[in-house]
Amino acid sequence: MATIVLEGITKRFPDGTTAVRSLDLAIADGELMVLVGPSGCGKTTALRMVAGLEEATEGTILIGGRAVNDVEPRDRDIAMVFQSYALYPHLTVRQNMAFSLKYRGGSGKDEIKRRVDEAARILELEPLLERKPRQLSGGQRQRVAMGRAIVRQPQAFLMDEPLSNLDAKLRVQMRAEIARLQRSLGVTTIYVTHDQTEAMTLGSRVAVIRLGELQQVAPPQELYQRPVNLFVASFIGSPAMNLVEASVERGDGGPQVCFGPHRLTIGEKAVREHPGLEHYLGRQVVCGIRPEHLEDASLARDTTPGSVIDVSVELREELGSEVDLHCAVGVAPLHLAGLADEDADETAGAAGQADAAAPADAAGEASAAGAGRAPVADPSDPAAPAGSALAATIVARVDPRTALGVGDRARLQVDLAALHFFDPATGTSLRG
Ligand code: ATP
Repeated sequence: MATIVLEGITKRFPDGTTAVRSLDLAIADGELMVLVGPSGCGKTTALRMVAGLEEATEGTILIGGRAVNDVEPRDRDIAMVFQSYALYPHLTVRQNMAFSLKYRGGSGKDEIKRRVDEAARILELEPLLERKPRQLSGGQRQRVAMGRAIVRQPQAFLMDEPLSNLDAKLRVQMRAEIARLQRSLGVTTIYVTHDQTEAMTLGSRVAVIRLGELQQVAPPQELYQRPVNLFVASFIGSPAMNLVEASVERGDGGPQVCFGPHRLTIGEKAVREHPGLEHYLGRQVVCGIRPEHLEDASLARDTTPGSVIDVSVELREELGSEVDLHCAVGVAPLHLAGLADEDADETAGAAGQADAAAPADAAGEASAAGAGRAPVADPSDPAAPAGSALAATIVARVDPRTALGVGDRARLQVDLAALHFFDPATGTSLRG
């Protein structure tokens, strides 16, 4: 077992694509670190550099305190588990698991048998040891791939989307199994996924990557509660955080956040929690509200004045334990370069440009354009038709007893203590 440390790792491909930029990351001994980000953000490239399958253009990679930049992959003492399990079809489960130990030499026959039996026991593969891969289900194949990594008893596991070939139910099951296994074996693990739910449920810490750059590394709950910027805020969480461009104004009961026809009196407490916010009086901010921080006001326990917005319900989704209401809020949708869904359109090409515009500049431009956008409909009408300039919708995750349905005007109570604020030009959180 070992620590894995990346110091200023950059990867530039010969065609000029910069896939990873100055990545600093320290993974503790026995830790499960998840790298998460949209497709093309550079997470696989980062993992491949740790494995030695790609050479780092700049920076140092240390495994167990030893710089391994010049060490061959086979001598790095790591085991990889890929999306494609890459099992040998003509070999049995036992032979597949034993293969790399035999191939590498150094382990006697008895030792190999002992390790394979032990891995089979841990993974509950004992009854399947004499089967060929084609006689196994997807989940069983995935477990064999894990078994092959375990028998190596490596210093670290590197896993690249190992569950993406499985159906949703099996994925949830295997996710729990991997977490349990990793904890009981205590092997340092880097796990790559584009699925933020997978990242949140698996990782002891999660590193969010965007366009080759590390955005934030933190335990899952901290990422969710204290995202450092708009990208993390919009990428982590499902349904995503609602984001609207708002102005901060001084009101009778304290500072107010105003967007479209809505005014929220945020109070001094929120200002204290976001010390940066006082500098934004009279200016624009991006205000973030998680869906679960909006409630049908008729079911809310106490409705403080200045905490309710008046919206129009466009869609009602019943999820059993709660109901998601998609509501028109009478403001323009937010388009900023730093948002996760805006990035999705940019795809890998933009990530690869060696001299791509700095995100802050791009965000600044988009924001200026957004602020200048003239509303074309009556801003007091929250039920602006879809497709108009005021067509932003927000999602409220409310009490399932709600009677609100499509077409209803709804009063939603906002949990003012849980608001997030960001600078529209840089995307940075205004939390202290
Ligand atoms: P995915 O989830 O889709 O696998 P990823 O986050 O793992 O994406 P990478 O595969 O690391 O992303 O790719 C990062 C960027 O580097 C992308 O823009 C990709 O097109 C580019 N890239 C990857 N390999 C090469 C290569 N050999 N030459 C040039 N560019 C490459």
